[in-house]
Amino acid sequence: MKKMSEVKSINLSPGEMYVLNTNLTDKPKQEVEFLQKVNEDELDDSEFVSTKIEDTVKYYDVLPNPIKYTNNKYSNYSVTLIDVNPRMCPEGRTVEFRAVQAARTSYGANMKSIKDDNNLFDYLVRNQHTSPLEFVNFTFRVDCPIYVARQIMRHRTFSFNEYSLRYSSVKQEHDEIVDFRSPHICNKQSSTVKTFKDEILTKMINDHFDETYAIYDLLIEADVCKEQARSIIPVGEMTTFYASVNLNNLFKFLRLRMDEHTQKETRVIAHMMSLGLQEVAPIAYNSFNKYMINSYTLTVDELRALLNDEDYKTDSKSGLHEFNKKKQDIMNKIKS
Ligand SMILES: Cc1cc2nc3c(=O)[nH]c(=O)nc-3n(C[C@H](O)[C@H](O)[C@H](O)COP(=O)(O)OP(=O)(O)OC[C@H]3O[C@@H](n4cnc5c(N)ncnc54)[C@H](O)[C@@H]3O)c2cc1C
Repeated sequence: MKKMSEVKSINLSPGEMYVLNTNLTDKPKQEVEFLQKVNEDELDDSEFVSTKIEDTVKYYDVLPNPIKYTNNKYSNYSVTLIDVNPRMCPEGRTVEFRAVQAARTSYGANMKSIKDDNNLFDYLVRNQHTSPLEFVNFTFRVDCPIYVARQIMRHRTFSFNEYSLRYSSVKQEHDEIVDFRSPHICNKQSSTVKTFKDEILTKMINDHFDETYAIYDLLIEADVCKEQARSIIPVGEMTTFYASVNLNNLFKFLRLRMDEHTQKETRVIAHMMSLGLQEVAPIAYNSFNKYMINSYTLTVDELRALLNDEDYKTDSKSGLHEFNKKKQDIMNKIKS
């Protein structure tokens, strides 16, 4: 037995052993015995049994082909629903069955009628019993400008992989602003719904990108590496990434990014993702709309003001603004 301090290069051969912890060198015998015991305790493949479970249920592929979503106004934006898990679903059911199946392990029960399954799924979302939702997963391919990708990538519960400008050349395709928006009157980070066109500004933007691409090409021709040449590229340049997420976190993402507080360009991408959700998970999409889009959190004071049609008293200017907005939204939705 050698001490680590005595070893210059480690060449492990069968039967040879090194004591890594020098404090143990006074008890090498016990150490060897301990390691031998661990060896004896190792699990052997032959003690395991695998059984293929017979299933009489007929399954179908919910996504035989990827589905690409585009938008007429944002012509170079797209979201492609690449994959979903589970892909194979029992006939008559959609991907939510997996969440229901996972939830039913809590009661030791399995599949029930489609109606019972749909009711249980709705119950899960209504009561924020969200862990069963994590058994349903989505993979999207997204094409959007870098500044939109940057907002989406703040969502840490997604897994991402993006087109790399270290290895690949700049696509030389940029965001095309068709309609300009003015800043919002009271919300500093937002914009108005009114739009305007300006040919001179549009031409300036296009010229700016053309000039940037010309400099990029010159840098590459001058043997500058791609990872440095990319530093001149504006955030309006288009990028591509893969994004995977489970249903629970997709709900959270869509609630934030389909909301009017989110920049319109990012909402376009979120909306396309929601179309993918609607396609393969219609029950989840309905529950999402019911409990996340068409649902409001109101304090008792807010509720009192709403029901009695009274002024809502608060010292917070933004609190009052948000209450009035919620009230207006609720009234509009009730009437429609
Ligand atoms: C309108 C709007 C404006 C914004 N403005 C800005 C801005 O000015 N500057 C800026 O930097 N960002 C901004 N953001 C980004 C925002 O702060 C969040 O980072 C982003 O929305 C991701 O949200 P999330 O953490 O809920 O999502 P995810 O990262 O997907 O997380 C989903 C949920 O998982 C849980 N979770 C994930 N990670 C953790 C963790 N480490 N610890 C505890 N819980 C976790 C939380 O419950 C979280 O809600 C803005 C977002 C919006 C929608």
